[in-house]
Amino acid sequence: MTETLVPTVNRLPIAQERRIVTPIPGPKSQALQKRRLAVIPAGVSSAQPFFIERAHGAIVVDVDGNQFIDLGAGIGVMTIGHTDDAVVAAASAQLAEFTHVVFTVTPYEGYVRVAELLAEHTPGDFPKKTVLLNSGAEAVENAVKIARKYTGRSGVAVLDHAYHGRTNLTMAMTHKAMPYKLGFGPFASDVYHAPNSYPFRDGLSGTDAAARTIAYLDKVVGASDLACLVVEPIQGEGGFVVPADGYLPALQEWCRANGVVFIADEIQSGMARTGRYFASEHSGIVPDVVLSAKGIAGGLPIAGVTGRAEIMDASHPGGLGGTFAGNPVAAAAAIAVFHEIESRGLLAEAERIEAILLPALLGLKARYDVIGDVRGRGAMLAMELVLPGTSEPNPGAVAAITAYAAQNGVLLLNAGTWGNVIRFLPSLAISDDLLREAITVIDDALAAL
Ligand SMILES: *Cc1c(COP(=O)(O)O)cnc(C)c1O
Repeated sequence: MTETLVPTVNRLPIAQERRIVTPIPGPKSQALQKRRLAVIPAGVSSAQPFFIERAHGAIVVDVDGNQFIDLGAGIGVMTIGHTDDAVVAAASAQLAEFTHVVFTVTPYEGYVRVAELLAEHTPGDFPKKTVLLNSGAEAVENAVKIARKYTGRSGVAVLDHAYHGRTNLTMAMTHKAMPYKLGFGPFASDVYHAPNSYPFRDGLSGTDAAARTIAYLDKVVGASDLACLVVEPIQGEGGFVVPADGYLPALQEWCRANGVVFIADEIQSGMARTGRYFASEHSGIVPDVVLSAKGIAGGLPIAGVTGRAEIMDASHPGGLGGTFAGNPVAAAAAIAVFHEIESRGLLAEAERIEAILLPALLGLKARYDVIGDVRGRGAMLAMELVLPGTSEPNPGAVAAITAYAAQNGVLLLNAGTWGNVIRFLPSLAISDDLLREAITVIDDALAAL
């Protein structure tokens, strides 16, 4: 018998309040920035100049003691809040048990449990299977591998403004050249970019936008060469573009009729972000395969490809896997995240956030004509900024607002093909008061433009 190690985690409490005590960046951040420039390549840039020391709930604390209201949550990863107690406890306990054995050599329960939870909570009540990976891009890559093996076809279709990652195949699938692709080619072949539905910019109904997409797939690609169509139910990096009603169901219908695997990349929109486990549920689609990553494990790297059992079983044994894939500590964290969403009713928290943030953003839109569009669902909302009186993208305004917000203790993220979107991805742990306080700062930033 060995003694059981009781994991102890020492941490100082972090008051859930905004507090700026130095100029931004403060002196310690500036010193770290100097060290960073010497050893980190220019390609790895950071949107903000301050270094983080600690975080809890909806607050991040920098090395100079400044506290920021975090409306980005590590790009929508910290959905249930930074250093959530249950996640910290579950991951700490697993750290002390075992941290790695490789599932493809010796299996363990945590991997199986995450697959069960994903089968239960992704849309559709047919038998499902899951392969776990380390990152979103790796999930996309594996979904394409599986769809190709299942269909015996090579073509991959994606939508304009899509973001699917930074590996070679996923660069080919991503829309925006700068900064993701420029100079990094040649890219993988057999990837086709179809027009999407972007109501603010194309004004098309779901039916008309779907007809345009389908015409492209039929005429330019040819359905019989197509293994899969990959869609984001709400486009992430592309600017939180919510397709017109009926658009995604029409695409799914076309995929079904043509033997094309319909894949929903829910890496950003999934895991309680929009008030449902997966945003597909809002759009009335039941994808053949659902991809999850960002929000599923409280910041630990793990990703899932979950799909119809007959599709997922297409690969021969040994065809799927990876050294770190489905890491036991990350799996323990993911199980805790699922548990917290359920036991604390966090889907309703996303709705609470929408009920405060959406009307507030629409109120700002009524007062500032630089805001062209406000859109999104749950705790995944955005405003698209334009040159007043036009629909011309206004990335300058986004840069000014995010810089002003950072100086005043609010951490914002941009998005969009033209960099003219501010996206809001707060953790579901954010209080009404913090949310309202952040909106006041954004209002001041808009007034200061
Ligand atoms: C972030 C993201 C990815 C890539 O995930 P990584 O973990 O960064 O590789 C793919 N698809 C969508 C929709 C994303 O938001």
